[in-house]
Amino acid sequence: MKRVGVLALQGAVREHVQSIEACGAKAVLVKWPSDLEDLDAIILPGGESTTMRRLIDRYGLLGPLRAFAESGKPMFGTCAGLILLAKEIAGYPEPHLGIMDIAVERNSFGRQAESFEAPLSIKGMEEPFEAVFIRAPHIVSVGPGGEVLGELGGKIVMARSSQFLGCSFHPELTDDQRITAYFLSMIPSETGISLPKSSVYSKV
Ligand code: GLN
Repeated sequence: MKRVGVLALQGAVREHVQSIEACGAKAVLVKWPSDLEDLDAIILPGGESTTMRRLIDRYGLLGPLRAFAESGKPMFGTCAGLILLAKEIAGYPEPHLGIMDIAVERNSFGRQAESFEAPLSIKGMEEPFEAVFIRAPHIVSVGPGGEVLGELGGKIVMARSSQFLGCSFHPELTDDQRITAYFLSMIPSETGISLPKSSVYSKV
């Protein structure tokens, strides 16, 4: 069974755990560096990015999370988690983890509309996704090789870049598991790697 961590320092942790388990994977709470061992992927939840960064430093997780990225395993940031992943944050001199090749801007949707829901067309999904935005950031630009997966009102709100997936909204706050399922599909399947050479499938 795939083991998927959820950074459990602050924010919408329990909802991500429920989504992961609804998709048939094992959810693992991550608070300390040793919790990262044996994970196949990790989700960084929404919440408040500056608070989360303080806690990342307090729990000694900055280096270990960067090392996790170095290992090539999939990482998914939602809302504040997206801000943590970004290589660039508009108006700030330094990023947090600085590992996903995107630039983001915080609190992009204006005070009047701090929280709202909107049906979102997502690349590769037939039906729109009812996306919940809470003081959401947006993605200003996606580096070479990255892919824009969703836009709202001309702003990029979902993207993928190598093993990183990020969105401005909170997919875990709905019962629609398609985005979590998509993220889980980014984990290389064990059978694909361990098939013996003699297998008929090895030609594929
Ligand atoms: N505005 C928050 C931040 O900058 C993110 C909001 C959220 O995660 N819902 O961290």
